[in-house]
Amino acid sequence: MRQHKVHRIGEVTIQKVLEQSLQNVPKSFVYPTAKPEEFEGIAARLAAVDLEDNQDDLVQSVHTWVVRTPRHLVLIDTGSGNHKQRPLNPLFHEQNIPFLERLRDEAGVDPADVDYVFNTHLHVDHSGWNTVIDNNRWVPTFPNARYVFPRREAEYYGSPASHNEVNVPSRGVFEDSVLPVIEAGLVDFIEPDGGHYLDIFRFIPTCGHSIGHMSIQLTWGNETAIFGGDVLHHPIQVLRPHLNTVFCEFPGDAAASRERILRQLADDHALYCATHFAGSSAGYVARTDHGYTWSYA
Ligand SMILES: [Zn+2]
Repeated sequence: MRQHKVHRIGEVTIQKVLEQSLQNVPKSFVYPTAKPEEFEGIAARLAAVDLEDNQDDLVQSVHTWVVRTPRHLVLIDTGSGNHKQRPLNPLFHEQNIPFLERLRDEAGVDPADVDYVFNTHLHVDHSGWNTVIDNNRWVPTFPNARYVFPRREAEYYGSPASHNEVNVPSRGVFEDSVLPVIEAGLVDFIEPDGGHYLDIFRFIPTCGHSIGHMSIQLTWGNETAIFGGDVLHHPIQVLRPHLNTVFCEFPGDAAASRERILRQLADDHALYCATHFAGSSAGYVARTDHGYTWSYA
């Protein structure tokens, strides 16, 4: 059992629980538009956990953030889930990972005790554990929780408009991981402008990676954390903010949102809680003469 460090924002604790670590992820696959010279000198500015030994392939993570406030137990993003049929996306196809056991053993989370599940967006690797299979039916994993996500995401992925080539790997996600929680009456939708939720959270529109993608800001006194979903996939994008991933559906908006979040992270000295960075997955962005730099907390 590998228990991850607990971060604190005021009286709130934040802990990562791993679903899976992704090894040997080719840079050229994730960043198909990048020219080789854009990666020059970059290995020296990254942490050892971010790259394989060959210094070329990336290390990534898929995980959930467990957030405990004095009143509520909140999960942010829910990995890719077990037993989901993803034949076009072999990485996430028919998984069998002891994630719920890890939630219990590492973070003391019983599914029945979860009060809120926040999804930054509804891609395959962020909404999977919203549901589990029970007698051939997909049912909410966290039956007593309110599930909270952007309305635009649900409308888009529930419509034929999203059934395009970019989304082929995510086919079926809405049907098995989103619709069941909507039909169970457990969803609070966040409108396109974002806004406050509970006292201490704020949903910030960071569209582009997906149509209604939002980052989630947590504020306690003068301390701030931001859960950025896929606005940043890897610390490479802190150093090269213009680089979109192959998974960014609306590239122009994705790059603009990334720049905006980086500026805010640096200005506010906010703790950034990433969804795919390796290692502790949390840290700080600071300004340099030529852009930004990343350090793990
Ligand atoms: Zn993702």
